Amino acid sequence: MAELLKSKEPVAAMKERLAAQVARLEQAGVRPKMTIVRCGARPDDLSYEAGAIKRFNGLGIDVEVKELPVDIDQQAFTEQIQALNRDDAVHGVLIFRPLPPQLDESVLKYVLSPEKDMDAMNPDNLAKVFAADSSGYPPCTPEAVMELLAHYQVDLAGKNVVILGRSMVVGKPLAMMMLAKNATVTICHSKTQNLPAIARQADVLVACVGKAKMVNAEYVSPGQTVVDVGINMDEDGKLCGDVDFAAVESIVARITPAPGGVGGVTTSCLAAHVLRSAMKRAGLE
Ligand code: NAP
Repeated sequence: MAELLKSKEPVAAMKERLAAQVARLEQAGVRPKMTIVRCGARPDDLSYEAGAIKRFNGLGIDVEVKELPVDIDQQAFTEQIQALNRDDAVHGVLIFRPLPPQLDESVLKYVLSPEKDMDAMNPDNLAKVFAADSSGYPPCTPEAVMELLAHYQVDLAGKNVVILGRSMVVGKPLAMMMLAKNATVTICHSKTQNLPAIARQADVLVACVGKAKMVNAEYVSPGQTVVDVGINMDEDGKLCGDVDFAAVESIVARITPAPGGVGGVTTSCLAAHVLRSAMKRAGLE
């Protein structure tokens, strides 16, 4: 039986740190606030939004939701973001993606000010991850993987880390964060040959492929730590990860459940960004 690396413990530890920051802000007369920008009402966006509002309100952070028409044009969307950039009461902005097809993300990602960009949509924040510059806001999901591993004291220095997936939101920035912790990193993708054999060599195997239960017993070996970033629906319409949990948990040493693992920590990382932004603006950092 593998040790389960659940989100509950790291989330509770982070909550204590974050509550102390909220108290400092309160003393300075600042009420932290994040705005979610959502086009239309996709069920997965609504579900993430409900979870974030609950977590944020529990911490004393306000969340405002700006629901925009799903057919909004580029100019109107740009003006909405520029207004949020100028609004001193808003400390952070999260724009749900993917954006509707008429909006050009390659242009819009530069419109949101890097100081208010809480999930590394703006390339300035992503570049800072690659430059090991901690002054920006890294993408929350890979940051949550690092938080979770640090909480459970998973040693990364000199270890072989294999990351399945190379997206700009998860796989690539995560590889840089792992390198910064002195891991030896292999990044795999859909064209990688002999994937299961490479995965089996890992000390820490991270699955971020977006394929339900793809990582089966063939991909793992005894002693490994397996991190499942995936959020998918299985054939019965139930939430599941990229790892076939039932097939691998009797083989590996440690594994994150999905749901109940990385996802929960991601929301706390987002809250930490909003508080850091509010502290910076209040001159408290
Ligand atoms: P993505 O943009 O679709 O990227 C998937 C990556 O996996 C790509 O690099 C792709 O390779 C690779 N891949 C796909 N099929 C593969 C295969 N059969 N073998 C090897 N590599 C394969 O996905 P993403 O946005 O990074 O998200 C990954 C997963 O994480 C999804 O399940 C998503 O729902 C989840 N997610 C979770 C959180 C959280 O908070 N837990 C947040 C964001 C996303 P190519 O580059 O060659 O196409």
